[in-house]
Amino acid sequence: MPSVAKSDIVDCNIIIDPNKCTRCGRCVEVCSEDVFFGSVPGEVPTVTYPEECIYFNCCVYECPVPGAIRLRIPLPMSLLYKDEEQDQDIPE
Ligand code: SF4
Ligand code: SF4
Repeated sequence: MPSVAKSDIVDCNIIIDPNKCTRCGRCVEVCSEDVFFGSVPGEVPTVTYPEECIYFNCCVYECPVPGAIRLRIPLPMSLLYKDEEQDQDIPE
């Protein structure tokens, strides 16, 4: 039976595509939290503590491969992002 990486689990908000990930480790280095705790250099990062993610997207910006890592922003935070966008549309 093939093993399932924690990053492939549907409920996880941080999704790494092992077919696109080059195992460069940049997302692990840039993360200020323990989300990728225990990841092994040279392997696809392990999403150990997804609940610690602060959703600032640093890992996505740092990743050199588009689509290798994605965040599923929880609804309350999505509303905050939306409010920010709407604020920018308000004329001064
Ligand atoms: S968004 Fe930030 S806290 Fe969350 S996994 Fe990426 S780098 Fe870590
Ligand atoms: S930065 Fe992107 S390519 Fe590099 S290990 Fe993380 S997900 Fe994989």
